[in-house]
Amino acid sequence: MNELAKSSLTEISRALRARDISVRELFNTIHTYAQQKNTDIFAYLELFDADENAIAIAQKKIDDEGDNAPFLTGIPIAVKDNMLIEGKTVSAASRMLENYKAPYTATVIKKLVNDNGALILGRTNMDEFAMGSSTENSAFGITKNPHDHSRVPGGSSGGSAAAVAEGAATAALGSDTGGSIRQPASLCGVVGLKPTYGAVSRHGLIAMGSSLDQIGPLTKTVSDSRVLFRAIAGRDDMDATTIPDGLYPKRSVPRNMRIGVPYHLFENGVDKDVRALFDVTLASLKKEGHSIVPITLPTSQYALPVYYVIMPAEASTNLSRLDGMRYGFSKPADTLLDDYLQTRSEGFGKEVQRRILLGTFVLSSGYIDAYYRKALRARAVITDEYEKAYEQVDCIAVPTSPSPAFHFGEKSDPVSMYVEDLFTVTANLTGMPALSVPMGTVNRDDTPLPIGIQCTAPHQAEDILFSFGEEVEKIRIQNQMRF
Ligand code: GLN
Repeated sequence: MNELAKSSLTEISRALRARDISVRELFNTIHTYAQQKNTDIFAYLELFDADENAIAIAQKKIDDEGDNAPFLTGIPIAVKDNMLIEGKTVSAASRMLENYKAPYTATVIKKLVNDNGALILGRTNMDEFAMGSSTENSAFGITKNPHDHSRVPGGSSGGSAAAVAEGAATAALGSDTGGSIRQPASLCGVVGLKPTYGAVSRHGLIAMGSSLDQIGPLTKTVSDSRVLFRAIAGRDDMDATTIPDGLYPKRSVPRNMRIGVPYHLFENGVDKDVRALFDVTLASLKKEGHSIVPITLPTSQYALPVYYVIMPAEASTNLSRLDGMRYGFSKPADTLLDDYLQTRSEGFGKEVQRRILLGTFVLSSGYIDAYYRKALRARAVITDEYEKAYEQVDCIAVPTSPSPAFHFGEKSDPVSMYVEDLFTVTANLTGMPALSVPMGTVNRDDTPLPIGIQCTAPHQAEDILFSFGEEVEKIRIQNQMRF
């Protein structure tokens, strides 16, 4: 792999400031490399041409401000194709928006580019409207896992995760509604953060489940994750659900952490190699002085069904605007009803249609109490259980995904795909932040495949997650684990 492609954001930022490389050299190298790799792995739906103006501004910033220039100045970043950049296509990997041009720019992009001088490399592949765990639901083709091209990169932010793992981006943004940053991070061997709900503005993110969605970073290291998170976080007048810093009680980051582990949740099918690696990682954390505390989260076993009621309900509502009249794809017919039917049948893929049906059903009168409202009540109980657990422990650890990357087509039964989200959906239901960090590899067909450990912490306690993540990185180096 090309040296620059391998380097972390932090290392590259240092090299830029030391004038070891110029912003242009960096951009060209990563861009050319990404172009070459895209023919193999198809992480990008589109790589943007160099923005000469942005490159010149970034270089000037570094020349004028030196070490005081923002850390992200000149750093090439990939963006999941559900975040708006004015004038560029934003498709959410759907036929419905194949030629749709963004009319304005998302807050996160403004923060990266205008406030921090970062450069946007292109838009990455994803499951259509962020529905899926493998990126197989993209209307435009599959993305391959850089570690084994016969396997999926995870999803729905599979393009962003694969780009970072391959070195085809220095860092990337993804979105996470039920695990779509953390699960692909786990399967591709990179670091993925789902911030606290409201920590990062959703203005300019194509909505999936509005009470669950968060934008977050996919990076090579935990310290890169911290840098990118700080750059995109903050209150935004354009998103009323964003929260100010310090809204929740401040948690200190203890040197020796009490790590809660809900062992009872592992009974329903964690792969045995994943479990063994998880246990080894916990044992190493213990050696470092942290304590492992078995905990029970009784209602968490229902998190998956609760999620798969609430998310489709919200998604079906959000996607109703795509009716052939207002945005994107349109298939006129003889009557208005036929317009809708044809547009939505041809514009949306199977999985999206399945969720719209499911969501419409659970919200329909006669069923709303039995499904949607019951799921909301269960969501409140789950959140309560987590809050109680945090009186006893500083964070909670589980494997990010129950198994390593699977083959294309292996999970064609939708429920088997949904089970991928077993450990990730709870953080979206509770709104709490969660981080996935590579903990090592497990072998499949003689190929080492990465797998992540996930840590969840109380609202706005991202610093605990970063500290946990750095401990895991240290252990991985000590144990000489590759990923
Ligand atoms: N895999 C989950 C789903 O399909 C999560 C999606 C997401 O986080 N965007 O709903």
